[in-house]
Amino acid sequence: MAEPLRLLVATRSRHKLRELCELLALDPATELLSPDDLGIEGEPDETGTTFETNARIKARYYGSRAGLPTLADDSGLEVDALHGGPGVYTRRYAGPAATDADNNAKLLRELAGVPAAERGARYVCVLALALPRDDAGPRGGLRLVTRRGTCRGRIATELRGDGGFGYDPLFEPEQEPPGGRTLGQWSTAEKHAISHRSRAARRMTPVLRTLGF
Ligand code: IMP
Repeated sequence: MAEPLRLLVATRSRHKLRELCELLALDPATELLSPDDLGIEGEPDETGTTFETNARIKARYYGSRAGLPTLADDSGLEVDALHGGPGVYTRRYAGPAATDADNNAKLLRELAGVPAAERGARYVCVLALALPRDDAGPRGGLRLVTRRGTCRGRIATELRGDGGFGYDPLFEPEQEPPGGRTLGQWSTAEKHAISHRSRAARRMTPVLRTLGF
């Protein structure tokens, strides 16, 4: 019998893990593993200034330890009125140990008084796939493939809804009028139809297919 295909999903965020599993539509025989399943400890320093660099740092860190095809996600929010911030600092926006509630409260404070027309923003997701190379010589090595997806919207003036995660209760997708529903009020299926992560996943799926996933 053929070996089961094993893919490491390099995230400790259970929200991202769940969304990625739902979005990638992998062959049902694929065994999806987390860093904890493999006993991989620690996490890399996300020192990059772009989502691409940080996704590659994560994929390389976990992929080199696992010796398995490894998929990493780096994502965040770019707000027009903050000149594209918090960008790669989205998770740490309100400080190194910030919770989603801390980050959302800071975003509301920073945008206080900004009119709807100037509250534009987009979510960005970059997926990086690290592949162990057969031809990389005795020291091993990884081939990296990245794919990006974005999702445009605006920042609401107050939190609405408790679906999704992170900034979703503040993110009004562009399909909604100002003051309309946030992603925290959209169903999972609605979010998957337009989200940054689903767009990146749709672009990564053909790459995974060629590897048999
Ligand atoms: P990372 O884990 O370093 O990539 O940080 C991602 C940051 O962006 C976290 O603060 C997440 O809450 C936020 N984020 C990423 N994707 C989403 C999403 O789909 N909804 C809400 N927040 C998100």
